[in-house]
This record gives sequence, structure tokens and C-alpha cells, in this order.
Amino acid sequence: MKKIFISAAGICFSASLMAGVYGDTADARHAWAVHDNNRPNPVKITANPGQAPSDAVILFDGSEATFEKNWCSAGKPSTNTWKFVDGTMMPVKGAGYLMTKQSFGDCQLHIEWAAPTEIVGYGQGRGNSGVFLMGNYEVQVLDSYETDPSKSPNPNPVCADGQASAVYAEIPPLVNACRAPGEWQTYDIVFHQPIWEGDKMIHPGSITVFHNGVLTQDHWEMEGLTTHRFRRPLKPHATRLPLKLQDHGNPVRFRNIWIREIPSRYADTVSGGPGTKEADVLALRQKLAAELFKKVDTNKCDYDMVQNIFEVVSYYKTPEYLEACKKIVSGYIANMEKWDDAMLDSQKGKIMALQRATVTLLRNKVFEKCALSEKIKEISKKKNWK
Ligand code: MG
Repeated sequence: MKKIFISAAGICFSASLMAGVYGDTADARHAWAVHDNNRPNPVKITANPGQAPSDAVILFDGSEATFEKNWCSAGKPSTNTWKFVDGTMMPVKGAGYLMTKQSFGDCQLHIEWAAPTEIVGYGQGRGNSGVFLMGNYEVQVLDSYETDPSKSPNPNPVCADGQASAVYAEIPPLVNACRAPGEWQTYDIVFHQPIWEGDKMIHPGSITVFHNGVLTQDHWEMEGLTTHRFRRPLKPHATRLPLKLQDHGNPVRFRNIWIREIPSRYADTVSGGPGTKEADVLALRQKLAAELFKKVDTNKCDYDMVQNIFEVVSYYKTPEYLEACKKIVSGYIANMEKWDDAMLDSQKGKIMALQRATVTLLRNKVFEKCALSEKIKEISKKKNWK
């Protein structure tokens, strides 16, 4: 795989997984170095604005087929009393929750909804539905377009934490981005479920919501289950559960629903995040060092081999690796001592890249001292290299 690398000095390289040390090295909480070319690349997907990404699960695309395939009424095998109407799905009063047949955990969810065009009801009885993440955490759906009695002849002055885009009964939206009844609206939601170790909560999870493209919930850490009578506190549940849509007695329509499961922030145990486990970091560093060491040839003391062995010892040091490093570096220094001015000039870019690598290795205490660094300083001074 080709990568373009622009160094701190602005030098541009094109290489195939170029070995080398280009930023802070692995440490007790990071298996990967900064700009580590050994780090796996993200999975490539197709993403076009306004369309579901290629890795999304399409839960409802306006077809009756996706309505029947992906959804059922809570506790029943079919969609039962929810209806497919003109490319939308909507509850009939008394239908109960509609839920996905598939279960999900942490996710990115896109969903579109419209409150009834005809204004009927008041307060929580006007255009009420809800997006229940994992069936337990409600992002409210409500006609809260006009809440100010002084500005509307037909307001719906509901409590702030019960308006559209509220995490219901916990936190109001940051702003009221609600559109008028009958108009289609979007929610784009990023949801992380709470993390538990037995009955001990490690993290309460979070909900982020964009309502019609506007941030209305900014990484809100949940405090309870909407489905609890008294809301608080959080309680453990299964790690994958169906998404539910609420029937609150109002004919709210839904369309264009897709979901992407995303990894838990605790799933990555080697990258310095909240789930980091130092034993996992150490094990991966040892594995990476062992794999890279297979490519090391101590009889070949060129630029690439110096970078290779620098990578090895930056992941993990054994007496064998350090001995190989000493031999390769000594060989490279011996080569430099034989080079004439023209050869040194031709190698200036690589020599200075090695100097930056040694600075990083010394800074990160991979080495206490480095003969190569001293030698390059001597040459740079003599040649007035900057
Ligand atoms: Mg609701």
C-alpha cells in the first residue's frame, strides 16, 4: 500500500509502508507510535452526502419489503398494527412499540420523522413518539415547533426536557431546531451504551444528536433508563438490544432509517483510550517487534535497516534486538565515515531523517544516548547543514 508522508521538516516521501520513527514512540499505554506505518488502515467504505454509507444496515428505505423484513411490534413476530403508508411507517393508536428484529449496541443512527400536519392534542400528546436506543434511552420525538405562547396562536408549551431532541426526562436540546408539523426532520445520533463490570458502572455512556443537522445533544452522559418509572439511575442490561420506536397515540411518520454499529470506546485496549490495558499494549508491542525483527539483517547497514531496527527497539527491547541495533548503527557510522563530500550531500535527506529519529528515540527514552546522533551532529556542524 502506498502512503505519502510529509515529515516535520516538510520533506515528502512516497513509499510502501516505509519503516522508520516519525513521532513519539510506543509506550506503556500506546502500542502504536505517532505516524506508525505498521498500524492497520481503516476499512474503506463508500460515503456520499445524503445517502446511507456502504457499511450501514438499511432498516427502512421507504419500501414495504424493508418494513416487513426489519421490524416487528414489541413482543410480536410481525409489524402488527404499525402501518406502511406511502413510503413511510407510522403507528396506529394502541399499536405499542415498533422494534427492530436485529439487536444493536453502540451505533450511529440516521432517522427521519414528521409530526402530523394536522395539529391535534397538547403537550406530550402532540406529535409524540420517540427513538429508543437499545429500547431504553429515548431521544424524544414531539411537535415542539412553537413552544412560546406569546409568539404562536397554537403553541405547545411543554417542559424543556420533554421537547423534540431532548434526552427524555434528562436534558433539553441545546437549541430548538424543530421544524413545523408535517415537515420532515432528521436525527443523526451517535450513541454509546453504559459500560459495566458486573454491577459497577465504568462509564455512563453518551448520546450525541444532530437535529436537522444542528448539534442538539453534545455527548450527553446518560443518568437513567427512560423505561424506568422513576428514570434514574442507570442499570445494567444486555449489550445488544433492539432499537424501538414509540407509539404515543399520535400518527408520527418515519422514513429513511439506517444504522451503523460502531465499536465501543472500550473495545480498543491498545491505543491510549479509556479501555487501554497495559498488558495488551505490551503483548502487541512484543509481537510487532518480533515480526519486524524477522526483516532485520545485521550485515546490511544502510538507511532502511537503521530505520527498521529503530522501529524494533522502539516497540520492545531485548538483549538480542539491542545487540543487532548496535551492530547496524555502527556499520552505518562506519559507512558515513568513508563517504566523501558529494556522497554525504547526496544522502543528506536520509541522514537528517535519521537524526530526527534519534531525537525522538532519545526523547522517549528508548535510548539514554545514541552514537549515531552524536556522529550526525558532528557531520552537520562540519557541513553547516541546517
Ligand atoms: Mg416520546
